[in-house]
Amino acid sequence: MFKARELDLETLLEAIDRLDTVFAVYDKDHRLVFANESARRGWPKLYDGLARGLSQYDATRLEIASQFPNHSEDDIDQFTEYSVAIASSGKHGEIRAQTGRIYRTHHERLGEKGIVGIGVDLTDLKKHEHELSRLAEENFRLANIDELTGLSNRRHFLSRLDELCDPTHVDPKPFVLGLLDLDGFKLVNDVHGHPVGDALLKEAADRLRSAFCENCVIARLGGDEFGIIVPSEKTADIIETTATDICAVLGQPYELDGERLYVSASMGIASFPNVGQTRRQLMERADFALYHAKQNDKGRAIIFSAEHEIRIRRHASLELGIREADLERELYLDFQPILNAQSQIVTSFEALARWNSPTLGAVSPEHFIPIAEQSGLITKLSPILLRRALREAETWPETISLSINLSSLEVASMEHAQQLMRLIDQSSVNPRRVVFEITETAMMRESKNVLKVLEAFRKVGIRISLDDFGTGFSSLNHVAHMPLDAVKIDRTFLEGIETRRESASVLKTICDLCRSLGLTSVMEGVETPLQARMVKSAGIDFMQGYLFCRPISAGQVQKFLTAERLPEKVQSRQAKA
Ligand code: C2E
Ligand code: MG
Ligand code: MG
Repeated sequence: MFKARELDLETLLEAIDRLDTVFAVYDKDHRLVFANESARRGWPKLYDGLARGLSQYDATRLEIASQFPNHSEDDIDQFTEYSVAIASSGKHGEIRAQTGRIYRTHHERLGEKGIVGIGVDLTDLKKHEHELSRLAEENFRLANIDELTGLSNRRHFLSRLDELCDPTHVDPKPFVLGLLDLDGFKLVNDVHGHPVGDALLKEAADRLRSAFCENCVIARLGGDEFGIIVPSEKTADIIETTATDICAVLGQPYELDGERLYVSASMGIASFPNVGQTRRQLMERADFALYHAKQNDKGRAIIFSAEHEIRIRRHASLELGIREADLERELYLDFQPILNAQSQIVTSFEALARWNSPTLGAVSPEHFIPIAEQSGLITKLSPILLRRALREAETWPETISLSINLSSLEVASMEHAQQLMRLIDQSSVNPRRVVFEITETAMMRESKNVLKVLEAFRKVGIRISLDDFGTGFSSLNHVAHMPLDAVKIDRTFLEGIETRRESASVLKTICDLCRSLGLTSVMEGVETPLQARMVKSAGIDFMQGYLFCRPISAGQVQKFLTAERLPEKVQSRQAKA
């Protein structure tokens, strides 16, 4: 401090001149006495004006006018007034200099002698702050946004659901939770490759975005699954109809990879608070409704109802029943013949699972098979059923084939598939006599593995038949890509065929396509002679249905086959058909 007194003024001013900080001194009448280099460089017009003796207002106005040449005179006046007020009030202000740097300025009275103006350079600090907030935003985005589609991700979706279900809310708002799934997406991915799959997901996301209002949450929950939260007090009917329309929009063809690609969308819906009050309840119920939509009403939206609640209970008791069952004793098979449509000669039998439970009674495969599939128990059932079926087929003539239904789990896993092939190998039945029937839905899941498994089956001579064709989404286009031998056309195609001409031509189209792909066609569920005639004239190769024979026991198959040999039997059936 003592030495500072020896410092001459010139040296001191030179040092101040070199500061990054803006430094200016005015006399008590606000006339400029000194401005350092940073000040002069930052506000050249202002300090030049002040040095020339202009008033503070006029000099400031010159500066502002040169900084904002495109602004109106009024704007410049206003801004000048503001700046002068700040300078004389002693308040802090933030201003940008001509150099682009940002200063935090402050004017202070030096008693009666004058005023000192100081501006601290905040540019680097500001940049740093900006970078920090950009990083925070980026982090938020990464944590909450699905990168591919730009929709919310699962995490964000679930946390929004938690907020909305928060039991401490004084005034909880009703909303609807929708879970949406694209049927057939995996196949697109496998056949056309991931880039095309990604493009399809992006377009599906765009379609969803334009279908919903801004205060809805739309998320991609993973794979081809989407979640939607819509604030709504509407009735179940209206919600279901609106959501089904949205499914239809997503089911419109996608023009990608130079092709028209088809997927369908199904949705399960649960509404808050009447169907579920917690996130878990809502998710489970919407998921259950989705499962039902996929099973029974593909391409539609289904809202969780009281009837579903009953089904959930029944489902649970059936699952427990299967778990506790003595499967070797309680399971058995019925067989239903499949005939050559032209000659009416029986060529094979389809083995159909039956379960006679001591506690639940006779349970239809339509009920227990899906439950066994979902719970994974099917892999315990199938080997038992296949072994039995093979044992029966061993007693049949070599010309008669055996059709067996497989579930999605067996065709999705090479391990299970190999177990089934081993069982055939251990029997005396030639694999060429075995047909595996697989539904479209089963083929569409895990389609990459499925293709490998199907190829492995065919390699040993087992034939593959696409079961219930027409109930899923598979377009004829997809069929062409799959390693198949036959297509079993679902019996729903026979509905109204007696009266509707179009139904007959649809059958003919499917049949022609099968022929052009080198596939055998089989019509399921033929019940009337007229149906049989129409199926035959459509050119379908094989038929199966109550008209010829209901599913019969293994013992009856033997009798049937003996009777079948009699030519008059065939003749009488031919007359009927
Ligand atoms: P599916 O493979 O399509 O079997 C044909 C179903 O249609 C059988 O019902 C059969 O009894 C019925 N059906 C046959 N002809 C007619 C007809 O003229 N009219 C009508 N209305 N129905 C007819 P079932 O036996 O109840 O089997 C239902 C489904 O359960 C089968 O459909 C198949 O998907 C599944 N399933 C049956 N057994 C097995 C099995 O061992 N394993 C697996 N994974 N699934 C099985
Ligand atoms: Mg079948
Ligand atoms: Mg079928």
